[in-house]
Amino acid sequence: MEKTYNPYENMLHVLESAAKMLGLEEEEYVVLKYPERELRVAIPVKMDDGSLKIFEGYRVQHSCIRGPSKGGIRFHQDANMDEVKALAAWMSFKCAVADIPYGGGKGGIKVDPRTLSKGELERLTRRFTARILPIIGPEQDIPAPDVNTNAEIMGWMMDTYSMFQGYAVPEIVTGKPVEIGGSLGRGEATGRGVMIVANELLKNHNKKVEGTRVAVIGMGNVGGVAARLMHNAGYKIVAVGDISGGYIDENGIDMNELSEFLSKKNLVKDYKGNGRFCTTDDVIACDCDILIPAALENQINIRNADTVKASYIIEGANGPTTVEADGILEKKGIIVVPDILANSGGVTVSYFEWVQNRQGIAWTEEEVNTALEKKMVKAFNDVLGFAEGKNTSMRMGAYMCAISRIVTAHKIRGFFP
Ligand code: GLU
Repeated sequence: MEKTYNPYENMLHVLESAAKMLGLEEEEYVVLKYPERELRVAIPVKMDDGSLKIFEGYRVQHSCIRGPSKGGIRFHQDANMDEVKALAAWMSFKCAVADIPYGGGKGGIKVDPRTLSKGELERLTRRFTARILPIIGPEQDIPAPDVNTNAEIMGWMMDTYSMFQGYAVPEIVTGKPVEIGGSLGRGEATGRGVMIVANELLKNHNKKVEGTRVAVIGMGNVGGVAARLMHNAGYKIVAVGDISGGYIDENGIDMNELSEFLSKKNLVKDYKGNGRFCTTDDVIACDCDILIPAALENQINIRNADTVKASYIIEGANGPTTVEADGILEKKGIIVVPDILANSGGVTVSYFEWVQNRQGIAWTEEEVNTALEKKMVKAFNDVLGFAEGKNTSMRMGAYMCAISRIVTAHKIRGFFP
């Protein structure tokens, strides 16, 4: 039986195995088992009906060994400290794999944003920003969007921080609107990165993009964008899923049409195409070559791992596969491209945004996309090198790559005091 799922324990398990594979002594990596700083805040918000409601929020800084903490803020009813701690650690590993000069952080508010009016959402965001203000900063900790947060919310965070400083500080957050210092290409970056990884993977296995069948769960900023870009690049999207369920069409879904439909606040279950409505488990079990889980954690678990027919899984979401499921997939010979590599396109372009802000310049979209591709291809091959070197999975390869970079940086910096 699968134990009650705890993402932080999931992270510790993988960290331990990878560190052992690298032959590290416990003392060399033990600091990575503990977040450097955890902040829990109470956020009072005046609701539209005049009542006062208190929300709970978090910001965790896992590591600043390789640079300032970096990572998104999620608004979700199930957000909790253990989840945010795991997500912060994954950011440290992701930034190390992507080889960008950051450590990892993450934040969240326990709230279902769909239950709030726009005004309430803005007041919640601004008060949360004020609460975490003492520990964030362009050289300290730089938030970004994550599940259920977007450019508009980043704009409010940037404005709130700037009001406290007395001048505009665009580099306090990334993923902001382009008009106030956001980077071109940031909105699509995570989805684009998923496609770059898919291209590299196929190239590596001497396979063609054209006709490769893909299933995607999660139609948000990661899955929705990846599915559309991949459709336009020649992949055949045969199944998709969102919170309302799944949709299968073996002849291929027109992702431009479906994306247009979903952009009007519609759900997959209401889409009328040539395919059929199904459950998300049907999407996980569908006949396809690449499965892309791009929603929340714990999607591929002991209950459904054995039903996966895909040859490859590319983790668009953070932590979508449980440890137990990972074991089952490995036995089935399924290759998993882990989250800390597969979805690192977002934070990579966040880094480009921060660099542009600090230099006071703006890159063209082409410059951003070219630099992203170069970074991701390098990361993919670095990870593959570690995995092949020890004849192990890409997940272990990615963790070994990340841990060795962080541990090396730690050694070079030396131990304080
Ligand atoms: N939330 C995204 C992630 O999990 C992006 C983080 C960032 O851009 O800082 O990678």
